[in-house]
Amino acid sequence: ETDLRMLVRASRLGSRYVLVLAEDHTETHRLEEVRRDFVANISHELKTPIGAVGLLAEALAEAADEPDQVRYFAGSLTRESLRLGRLTQDIIELSRLQAADPLSGPSLVDVRAVIRTAVDRNRVEAEARSIEIVTRGGKHATVVGDEDMLAVAVHNLVANAVHYSPDGSRIGIGATVTESGYVEIAVTDQGDGIAEAERERIFERFYRVDPARSRRTGGTGLGLAIVKHVVQNHGGDIRLWSQVGSGSTFTIRLPEASTATVPVRGDSE
Ligand code: ADP
Repeated sequence: ETDLRMLVRASRLGSRYVLVLAEDHTETHRLEEVRRDFVANISHELKTPIGAVGLLAEALAEAADEPDQVRYFAGSLTRESLRLGRLTQDIIELSRLQAADPLSGPSLVDVRAVIRTAVDRNRVEAEARSIEIVTRGGKHATVVGDEDMLAVAVHNLVANAVHYSPDGSRIGIGATVTESGYVEIAVTDQGDGIAEAERERIFERFYRVDPARSRRTGGTGLGLAIVKHVVQNHGGDIRLWSQVGSGSTFTIRLPEASTATVPVRGDSE
């Protein structure tokens, strides 16, 4: 309705303006489509674990006299509900980021602290699979932004490196400052690697190369979409180098604090 009103008003100003606003209209339409797809995907993704929880609860009630079965169904119920929790968390996170609000109250963030937090959050799982996480380069680097969001982004990259790497392998993580004034945080693994045809798509919401594997590792298919949005909201980008069979390196590039021009909520346009 709003778009129509804009078009009508513009038409009085002459055809050139109508054309310009008609493009706006297309963009609004595209965003609406993206939003509808997202909601459709969410419904689809939620249906599986919710259905499983229902079936498992029924099975549990029927197996009341069989302790082994009770344990089995209760274990599956716990796994499915944890998965639902993660999925909900990721959906909320992504919706918040997609609102694309400028960062509220950005502050100076110590990149080493972000890396430390991300590594710590993955340590237990990595150790359980004898995966060594090596932190490289202790150079001090700061960016302007939201420390929690950045920690989520780096955490997601490290978590993927752990999930998609073989037991006993090694993961490297480190930050460097480039001459052109960027901080680059690189996460390198010795995992399966990602085929060229998949390298763009893995950043899409809910896209997985191997859905069954992603589900086994507790993935939601939203991890990299979240990383991409966090990085974009900080005026940066993300790159991927990978070789199938040898591993992958994801590199987040963020403007270094002294060169950053991150929009601040409340600034005049
Ligand atoms: P998921 O929750 O499935 O891990 P992500 O958005 O984090 O979702 O990643 C999307 C897909 O990209 C994964 O399902 C996996 O197929 C692939 N992927 C992500 N990181 C890696 C990696 N380090 N090595 C190999 N494949 C990866």
